Amino acid sequence: MKKVALSTDNENKVKEIFEILKHYNFEIITKKKLKINEEFEEIYNTLEENATLKATKLRQFCNFAVLADDTGLFVNALNGEPGVFSARYAGVHGDSLKNREKLLKKLDGIEDRSAYFKTVIVFIDENGEKIMATGILKGNISKSERGKEGFGYDKIFIPQGYSKTLAEIGFEEKNKISHRKKALENLKILLGEKYDNSSC
Ligand code: IMP
Repeated sequence: MKKVALSTDNENKVKEIFEILKHYNFEIITKKKLKINEEFEEIYNTLEENATLKATKLRQFCNFAVLADDTGLFVNALNGEPGVFSARYAGVHGDSLKNREKLLKKLDGIEDRSAYFKTVIVFIDENGEKIMATGILKGNISKSERGKEGFGYDKIFIPQGYSKTLAEIGFEEKNKISHRKKALENLKILLGEKYDNSSC
């Protein structure tokens, strides 16, 4: 089994990544397990640069493969807001309720509620080779919060083809269709058979 360290401390993300990669021959090691307390700050204006920064920083702490994820919610009527600033939209880092409230307020009275999540994954293998993969989930922003599961903006995002929010459809269904799932599937294609364990 090959070790892969994750750059995130977000338990929801870790749970999703674990679930999506469970058929792979990876031993997934969290940042917490590596006892890394440093917060990898997102200082750039693109998901690609921030994911690269997080992966590169994490690689300085270990000599095995690392995986970093950066995600944003892009709302078309707001010219792509909150986008790369999704985590800090309401000014308080990590306050998802305030972020959702701000977004619903900004969209008050606006008919076009189309939006998409984009995840960028950067994987640096044990030899230092970097691979980038992306995944997009299109949908619409709901009029109010709905559902109990998930995290971040899940309570106000209705994926295309659904009438429920990501927080209503739940963990299993979300993991079949999500931006993170698509990015990780694209990563698997780029990695080829290197870590494949599908026969197990
Ligand atoms: P980051 O990738 O941790 O920087 O995430 C940016 C923001 O998007 C944070 O506010 C997260 O809570 C939110 N976010 C990330 N992934 C998801 C998701 O799968 N669903 C809902 N919100 C998410």
